[in-house]
Amino acid sequence: MTERPPSVDALARSLAESGLPHPVLVDIAREAIASGDHTVASDLVETFRRTTLQRVVNGTGTLLHTNLGRAPHGVHQEPGFRNLELDLETGERGSRQSHAPRLLAKLCGAEAAIVVNNCASAVMLILAALARDRGVVVSRGELVEIGGGFRVPEVMEQSGARLVEVGTTNRTRRSDFARAIENPANDVALAMQIHQSNYRITGFTEMPSTAALADLGVPLVSDIGSGLLDAACPWLDGGPPSWLADEPAARQTLAAGAQLVAFSGDKLLGGPQAGIIAGDAELVSACARHPLARALRPGGLVLGALQDLAMTYLHRDGQAIPFWRMATVSVDELRRRADAVVAACPNVDLAVVETMAVPGGGTLPTVEIPSIGLSLHGDRRAELRAAATPVMARIAEDTTVCDLRTIDPSDDGLIADAMGTLAS
Ligand SMILES: *Cc1c(COP(=O)(O)O)cnc(C)c1O
Repeated sequence: MTERPPSVDALARSLAESGLPHPVLVDIAREAIASGDHTVASDLVETFRRTTLQRVVNGTGTLLHTNLGRAPHGVHQEPGFRNLELDLETGERGSRQSHAPRLLAKLCGAEAAIVVNNCASAVMLILAALARDRGVVVSRGELVEIGGGFRVPEVMEQSGARLVEVGTTNRTRRSDFARAIENPANDVALAMQIHQSNYRITGFTEMPSTAALADLGVPLVSDIGSGLLDAACPWLDGGPPSWLADEPAARQTLAAGAQLVAFSGDKLLGGPQAGIIAGDAELVSACARHPLARALRPGGLVLGALQDLAMTYLHRDGQAIPFWRMATVSVDELRRRADAVVAACPNVDLAVVETMAVPGGGTLPTVEIPSIGLSLHGDRRAELRAAATPVMARIAEDTTVCDLRTIDPSDDGLIADAMGTLAS
């Protein structure tokens, strides 16, 4: 006689220790019983857990990993109400764009700033608010596609602005912009620069500088994407790392004459997903008044996190920003940490290796940052992903490498735990 399967309810209750809510366990119990083998239920609990959003350790060596949410950051907010749209001075209705954006504007030397959902929305809003049914001049060398299907010509079309392309793929001059703007048929509202972000054209190339495009008689908008606030990096004791060399920064782009800059919150800024528009007060205000601004506005959680981040930058405390901490930690320090993990895993065949980390996130495509990794024979990525806190590693030839530069020192114990569970 075969054993009768348990009831759905009994099986679901037997899984209660997993901590998952009862309705989810009922679904899992049903699926397990339907499969003909109710003992698979505990595997299904694990499978369900893997579909939830959770903390992972980034050992890939890619600092801004798109699949891992780009910049690492935390949100520290007490539950409760906030003066999100209330002016505490007058007791009247205020603006959610009056807290973090004011600090971000100060950080990049702008008259004003607003925050939207991401940089793609920032560009879309600028074009819709300032160039609807009018021309926007862009160099053919900057009609880029950025990851996730952000294609400049398509964003332009969606915004209702009309693209006026000038120059060639490799060479565009100031005079190309000037000629397009002088032609009344183009009805040009804006000139626009778009940072090439994730690719480079090298060799016989020419692009006008921001300063060269600043006095053409129409506002210049610069989509710098990367979110570097200030090329001087005053928040870093040692100044800017050498690999940042040519990265455009918001402060210098505005100082060179751009009327507006747009950038992401979760790239080199090191914050949550957001888009920042900063620059001339009247143009920023025109963006804020446009109906799309309501649809693209960020929530209080994001604005709170950005305010904390902006305060940290103003305190010049780069070491308190996880992105800048990992970007600037010395190779010697990484080596010391790697040795400590090896010592903590005596039964695992781990080697300390020199590696190269990369900025990632569609920024600085040719840059490598010297780093230190832990290397294991063979492809062990799936086992490391299965750890209690999943560890993401990368494959290098026939070894699996966990790069320590992208791992917060406080997570070294998690690496040791994950490595320690590997069968040699
Ligand atoms: C990354 C990037 C974007 C898109 O930014 P999101 O915040 O992902 O929307 C737009 N423009 C440039 C130049 C970028 O580098």
